Amino acid sequence: MAGKIKTLDSVTIDRIAAGEVVERPVGAVKELLENAIDAGASSITVEIEEGGTGLIRITDNGEGIAPEDVRQAFGRHATSKISRIEDLDTLHTLGFRGEALSSIAAVARCELITKTRDTLTGIRYVIEGGEELSYEEIGAPEGTTIIVRDLFYNTPARKKFLKKPQTEGSYIAELMEHQALAHPQVSLRFINNHTDRFHTSGSGDLKENIYRIYGRDIAASIFPIEADGPSGLHMTGYLGKPAINRSNRSFELFFVNGRPVTDKMLSASLEEGYRPYLMQHKFPFAVLAFSLPSSEVDVNVHPTKREVRFANARQISSFLTSAVAGALHDTEMIPDALLDEERERREGLPFAAANDAQRSAQTASSAAEPFERSYFVQETGEEQQPLFAYGLAEEPVAMSDGYSFDAGPKDGAQRIRPVQERLFSEEAVKEYRILGQIFDTYWLMVCGDELLMMDQHAAHEKVNYERMMKRFREKTVMSQMVDPPEVIKLTPPQEELFSRYAPVFDGLGFQTEPFGERTVALRGIPLDLYGADAKTMFLEILDALNEEGTLPDDPVAVSSRIAGMACKASVKGNMHMTVEELRALLDEMMTLENPYNCPHGRPTLIRMSRFEIEKRFKRVVD
Ligand code: ADP
Ligand code: MG
Repeated sequence: MAGKIKTLDSVTIDRIAAGEVVERPVGAVKELLENAIDAGASSITVEIEEGGTGLIRITDNGEGIAPEDVRQAFGRHATSKISRIEDLDTLHTLGFRGEALSSIAAVARCELITKTRDTLTGIRYVIEGGEELSYEEIGAPEGTTIIVRDLFYNTPARKKFLKKPQTEGSYIAELMEHQALAHPQVSLRFINNHTDRFHTSGSGDLKENIYRIYGRDIAASIFPIEADGPSGLHMTGYLGKPAINRSNRSFELFFVNGRPVTDKMLSASLEEGYRPYLMQHKFPFAVLAFSLPSSEVDVNVHPTKREVRFANARQISSFLTSAVAGALHDTEMIPDALLDEERERREGLPFAAANDAQRSAQTASSAAEPFERSYFVQETGEEQQPLFAYGLAEEPVAMSDGYSFDAGPKDGAQRIRPVQERLFSEEAVKEYRILGQIFDTYWLMVCGDELLMMDQHAAHEKVNYERMMKRFREKTVMSQMVDPPEVIKLTPPQEELFSRYAPVFDGLGFQTEPFGERTVALRGIPLDLYGADAKTMFLEILDALNEEGTLPDDPVAVSSRIAGMACKASVKGNMHMTVEELRALLDEMMTLENPYNCPHGRPTLIRMSRFEIEKRFKRVVD
């Protein structure tokens, strides 16, 4: 009987390898684009259809492939870039593994047209599923065009695992943007489904590319950084002012010797440098290019080369942190007025300019974070608005050291209530003795023999959410105008998500309008999100959707998800709340089916019984 173990044939090996190198269309585009850059091209056009699954066409004006090398280039582990492992120490190219062409050709229908300077005619080579179909001479300009059709046509399992073409296309768009920023000296053109998406000039000016890709607002809020670090490292790039801090890390871009990389150490060091300017869960905008000797960085850590390992990681980390901190410090991001007012606020002094509306508006617009903007407007006493629409706000509870107190029932009587009654009922709530608020977030209340703690944000989130969904179901949504409208530039994934869910946003009361290339004007937000920073909230919802990945197909389920995100984004930050407002909030909670959890599952209320407290003080033994 023959043994069970067989050596795999080369086509099978290549298909397996393709799973690593080209997990999805964006992986193929990345490899082919790197090949074009390695070939010294100064101009590259990338065209895709159907998210790269239908067609990827990449044309470059690089050095081309010599006729005798064409077949070989598609061989497994075939590379012109290194011949032994030591060559990695002096590597100057992006590719070196010799896997891309063979892997892609194993799982797609490929056509290559290429010509070098030294040959009179070019070569056209067709290979499908790893099988050569033709090799012929052809007239062609210098450079290389590679066309990849029907990616994963012979690996249905892989194909099934792909997301919708639009989503795959948005990954490619994002890759193209990052590559354009990594290689400002190359003119890159990107065409998606016959539409020109962007075209960079190749002038080498990084700021120009940031402008072309992220728009005027971002380009106006960045400043250059350049510094020499340890181990022959040189860093150049741009940092965003704190005003454009983001709600996720997708704008922390690092290029190491021309390669976009994700690196926890680099992110952490950058954020550390920004620390005094970053609110929690906020991240800087940064585009930083590092060049350093190849021997100082291992690029062979990951099949897609998206990760690197630095020989001197620790030194590089502290270099980056101090370079960033220094650059921010020198740039004087925050006007002194804000610092003074901030200090005065902390020390409980009145603002110097409390009555000066103009000054307050100025402060508001230069605040480091949108949430601070609304906070300042309230603090300065201008435009003070009740944060909740539950009846008129009376005198806010006095706040000192973060505590506030309610005198409790005037008669001072301790009402003891039987515990078997529901703590969260219409009757019970009326009996709550409200002690006050701590840490700007939690309300302490006593009901009978129970100490209750309510998370103001979670409760508010819940009530808003239920109201929004009720209006959505009953088709009675109302919007609150954003005036002037917020003009918002979207990243490709944000745009993709938004265009997919625009009707849902609309149904919830978001009023938007297309505003040119990847830009929307936000004209209204749901009424229930009163007081929220419209733009921040809108972007946070899109980013949260992106993080969720697959969403249910059912539109009601999606709206509930979006409404939940909206409510979460809208109640962030600390808020004053009067006892009256709290009572109104509690009353409204009582009308809900499940008042105990916010839409994200966090509890709104926790309790501690007198028994538990006495146990902790060892007054009772259990
Ligand atoms: P690697 O880039 O790791 O060397 P690839 O499989 O991507 O491996 O490419 C194999 C070889 O084909 C490269 O080493 C290069 O010599 C050649 N090649 C691929 N694409 C191009 C191109 N666009 N222009 C010139 N040569 C190319
Ligand atoms: Mg390559």
